[in-house]
Amino acid sequence: MRVVSGIQPTGNLHLGNYLGAIRNWVRMQDDMQDGEQCLFFLADLHAISMPHDPAELHRGTLEMAAAVVACGIDPHRSILFNQAQVPAHAEMQWLLNGTARMGWLNRMTQWKDKAGKNREGQSVALFAYPVLQAADVLLYQTTHVPVGEDQKQHLELARDIAQKFNNDFAGEDTPVFTLPEAITPPQAARIMSLRDGSKKMSKSDPSEMSRIELADDADTVMKKVKKAKTDPEPLPSEAGGLVGRAEALNLVTIYAAVADTTVEAVLGEYGGEGFGKFKPALGELLVETLRPISTRFNELLDDREALDAILARGASQARELARPTLDATYSALGLVR
Ligand code: ATP
Ligand code: MG
Repeated sequence: MRVVSGIQPTGNLHLGNYLGAIRNWVRMQDDMQDGEQCLFFLADLHAISMPHDPAELHRGTLEMAAAVVACGIDPHRSILFNQAQVPAHAEMQWLLNGTARMGWLNRMTQWKDKAGKNREGQSVALFAYPVLQAADVLLYQTTHVPVGEDQKQHLELARDIAQKFNNDFAGEDTPVFTLPEAITPPQAARIMSLRDGSKKMSKSDPSEMSRIELADDADTVMKKVKKAKTDPEPLPSEAGGLVGRAEALNLVTIYAAVADTTVEAVLGEYGGEGFGKFKPALGELLVETLRPISTRFNELLDDREALDAILARGASQARELARPTLDATYSALGLVR
């Protein structure tokens, strides 16, 4: 089993990014058996498909690398890298562009959603984005890719590209590409804003009080939890009692996600209590959980050399792993090198 998964590099990482995305990587890594392997990459090449600020992309990539390591991705057990240091991704995309069909890409719902009515004004990269994703997984003979609902169509496309390439250019007994299977990532909690239970916690919310950031120190975390919006009622003893109480539900959901238990179990303990008791308990739990993460995160951000070394090492391993498939692809296409 070989698993490949990517994440867009962004800054201002928050609790939602941790519980909703990065923690799943750590769990996948920890579930790997002997002989199995996880490759995790920062999708910086994907980030240039939309208008972007170069300084922000640069900072965001380093921040995301520091965050995933701080959250528990072990660069000695998993291969962690950014695409820009593994040129095989961009090369493979070009090689696959010969096989991908315009019609296939035109049918991608993400393209239709992101381009809207202004298709003519979009970058070629946005249109060809799913081919880069196909390259990301096909390069490594990946067997399994964790994909949410919104990415299923892109994985199907990767399989179609692999199949057509194998049919058109490879011998029947010597396929160049493995067809990757989708695996459903474990259901992750959706964390809402601390100021408004109907909006998700997000790095682009102008209010810092709306989110707990991975870089926050203990006092800041406590202050944000205590100031979080709530209602005057005590907590119910069953989940049904949280209907229509979005802010209360969010705080209980956060507690359950961080403690790795269920909303019911949290209510079993705190049902009947007011927020005067629940908020300090939640704050303590968050401080204890985030302390090692934020310490390591801030250390890594202050130590560029260590961070560069982690990414360089991962990139060198990824280049090594990608080489045979990349060579076989050039060769199958008849390219002289
Ligand atoms: P933006 O506001 O710019 O969209 P964001 O805070 O939503 O930023 P993203 O970069 O879009 O962050 O998401 C990174 C990863 O974190 C994605 O896998 C996304 O599903 C996850 N994620 C983001 N916000 C939350 C949240 N509030 N709860 C759970 N998961 C989240
Ligand atoms: Mg988002």
